[in-house]
Amino acid sequence: MVSITSRAEARLESGHPWVYRSDVRDVRATGGDVVQVVNARGRPMGFALYSDRSEIALRLVARGPDAPTVDTWRVRLQAAIAYRQSLSIDATAYRVVHGEADLVPSFIVDRYGDYLVVQTLSQGTDRLLPVFTELLVDLMHPAGILARNDPRVRVLEGLEQRVDVVSGSVPAEIEVREGAISYRVDPYHGQKTGLFLDQRENRVAAALYAHGRLLDAFSYNGGFALALAHVCREVVAIDISDAAVARITANAARNGLTHVQARAMNVFDELRELERRGERFDTIVLDPPAFAKNKASVPKALSGYKEINLRALKLLAAGGILVTCSCSYNVSEAEFADVIASAAADARADVAVVEKRMQGRDHPVLMTVPETYYLKCFILRKL
Ligand code: SAH
Repeated sequence: MVSITSRAEARLESGHPWVYRSDVRDVRATGGDVVQVVNARGRPMGFALYSDRSEIALRLVARGPDAPTVDTWRVRLQAAIAYRQSLSIDATAYRVVHGEADLVPSFIVDRYGDYLVVQTLSQGTDRLLPVFTELLVDLMHPAGILARNDPRVRVLEGLEQRVDVVSGSVPAEIEVREGAISYRVDPYHGQKTGLFLDQRENRVAAALYAHGRLLDAFSYNGGFALALAHVCREVVAIDISDAAVARITANAARNGLTHVQARAMNVFDELRELERRGERFDTIVLDPPAFAKNKASVPKALSGYKEINLRALKLLAAGGILVTCSCSYNVSEAEFADVIASAAADARADVAVVEKRMQGRDHPVLMTVPETYYLKCFILRKL
């Protein structure tokens, strides 16, 4: 049992499932337990996953009087799977379970063809991994399940960073399809669980506007570059990682896209160099890593976003399209919009918002948890 302060009680009642360590009054539990949560007067509030290390001490998993059972998890996983099936996703790789937004906090399941890649990101879900594995085998019959448990957040939970096959077998490379494009994915070493699945629908949307000469900055293994190649005359993809650039080249060749050129470069330097050379692009995609990893780094992140957006707007031809993203959950949509507006003013560009987008529908946002709205994507047109 864990008792919490009235401040935490109010937070839980507002619909947010987290209780911070500073709001915990008394603990009779060990890390990883599913515990009953009571308010300061001892009234039961529900059940939560307890962590004895993380700043997030409790993650609420049930509001009623009953502790969650294997059946509770089965029903939630089943609902998550059924929801994704209802989306008519034109891809063989997508997110099946998105933590809090599927009522299974700190648990991620991504599907890559016949395989699943999972992450247990708290002590509670880490202990439940064997239960979740058995349920997923039963519900989805995957050829293999990889537990990609190497993200750094696990260290904050006092958990080991490790990668294990927990069911069947999982090959070093899995072939998946996104729209008309096929990719080879490395589930053991690729970023996140292998691909940036949260941008799939933004790639599809961007293809409706992209044209002419495309610059895909922060391309990773070519997500936007390849998805937009069929509507663009020439494609330049840049990423700082040699391994990523090798994958862009291989993925382009596999899909017969001979007009895609990939370069290993720092985007900040290359944008400046392209501007110096007087180059012009009709479409530019900016999809940088999260510049603001915490609250303290927000001001520096905003100046980073400002710089790349300013330079991109200068490189853009009249009538050109800028697809600009931020995946920092510490930077709100309003702050990001302000940065773009100020970049447009400095670039002396008239810019219209064509679409405001977010992470794909397979990565839903939980209304009461602003932290789950992390990816912002604006599609802009330079007038
Ligand atoms: N657009 C991609 C995902 C991008 S993730 C997609 O749709 O799949 C961010 C990428 O930025 C990573 O691949 C990382 O290697 C790269 N990166 C980080 N800092 C960079 C920099 N300064 N210059 C170029 N690339 C950078």
